[in-house]
Amino acid sequence: MTITEKRIKPLQPLNPTEEKLLSMVDERRQELIDLLQQLVRIDSVNISEDVYAERYEIFHFTEKYLRKEGFKTQLVKVPFPGGKTDQYYFNLIAFIDGKATGKSLQFNGHLDTVAYNPDNWNKDAQPLSAVIKDGRMYGRGAGDMKSGITAQIMAMKLLKESKVDFNGRLQLWCTPDEETHGAYGSDYMVKHHPEIVKTDATVISEARSQEPLQTPVITIGEKGPHWLKFTFYGVAGHGSVPKQKSNALNKAARFMANSRSSFKIPKHKLPVNTFTLLQSFLKRYRLPDLIKLLTHKTVNPNPLEKDKRRIGMSFETTYSFDRIRAGQKVNIVPDLCELDVDFRVLPGLSAQELFNAIADYCTRLGYKVELPIGYQNKQQSIGKFANEPVDVRVSVITIGEGFLIDKDTRFGKVLARAFEAVYETEPIYTFASGFSDGGNMLSGGMTDVFNVGPEGFNHHNANEYVIIESVIFAAKLYLLTAYRYLNS
Ligand SMILES: [Zn+2]
Repeated sequence: MTITEKRIKPLQPLNPTEEKLLSMVDERRQELIDLLQQLVRIDSVNISEDVYAERYEIFHFTEKYLRKEGFKTQLVKVPFPGGKTDQYYFNLIAFIDGKATGKSLQFNGHLDTVAYNPDNWNKDAQPLSAVIKDGRMYGRGAGDMKSGITAQIMAMKLLKESKVDFNGRLQLWCTPDEETHGAYGSDYMVKHHPEIVKTDATVISEARSQEPLQTPVITIGEKGPHWLKFTFYGVAGHGSVPKQKSNALNKAARFMANSRSSFKIPKHKLPVNTFTLLQSFLKRYRLPDLIKLLTHKTVNPNPLEKDKRRIGMSFETTYSFDRIRAGQKVNIVPDLCELDVDFRVLPGLSAQELFNAIADYCTRLGYKVELPIGYQNKQQSIGKFANEPVDVRVSVITIGEGFLIDKDTRFGKVLARAFEAVYETEPIYTFASGFSDGGNMLSGGMTDVFNVGPEGFNHHNANEYVIIESVIFAAKLYLLTAYRYLNS
């Protein structure tokens, strides 16, 4: 499928110094690829929020690399609670100061990856192989998000080597646990070391293409993860005497099965929606091409996949039942069932409102619900539950607020002009269904947190890859943005 993007004349075209800077990225292409391969080959799996998995190697490697390049670096140790004394995570900070004081710009990315099952990957492109094929690099973390960090490191290196003047500070911050929502990374640092990470502006380099777009977008908002654990209580018994109502697993099953019809979460409207997104798509594509893109059927390699991805899903609060545990033995009725649910909540809907919806739904099911401490429970006013035992207890795995930032700040404009100059297309602003470290940063009082990165695919899935050319472009965008912002 050949689609052409509408080229635009950038509002602020490249000047000779900037052209020289960007050509350096092309000249150093191989170095960028080598660095990305090295990072992908270091296993930095993040198993889950409650399981410690050390990631020393990737942090030491990256820190050493940056120190050798002449940056000042710092590794902030964050102990893993309940762990042994040598169990901790790192946040890596590296920076370079300009010739005079000025603004501070921060690049940010996470060095952890989600887990992988090599059996599901192609034999010739295994998770830690960093194999290059047809302009793509394969590997866990190739897209999400060692490519983004690599592009940012290259941008910092080249700004430094070019010896062009700039003021203020350019800083890189690598976090250890974005994939489990940043308790030791973004959340920890904004709470304990705001003096280090609160810069004037931050660019997160998550690779996040908005399918079907073929060039990057700037993400200015995200839904907030509300990961909740539902523990259902029942009564044990002999498997030969079934208990329809008090089998804890049956209770959870009813909870899941009725949710589509009876679980009502209040709807919120965002200023960004499918319509505004399509409008901005039209600034990048001619209508016939856009129709081609939107109706293009991707060949799905897995015949079990029956779900289609809708763009509109990004603009709704959603939930997914993602883990369930119950039972000990085939002939024992389970008296306990744990169900983990991944809610993704639009900004504007508070956790209390979500808990209200959960309480209403439980009332409809006839379940007495206990909510986490600190939240009001609507069921308390319902007499019939007063003397009943709790059917389901809800606890928080993690809660993060969604957000939508102002794209037209001073930094936002610098980023937009740089985007136009590098890609020669109209910037498209999107709202992401997934989260990044950005939510914790904004909750912690940081401002001007934007997200734009290379194009990666199959994130959190087998055969993850990044388009190498897009990493080169991302490095150019970061370099130009830094140069312009720190000279403005
Ligand atoms: Zn990521």
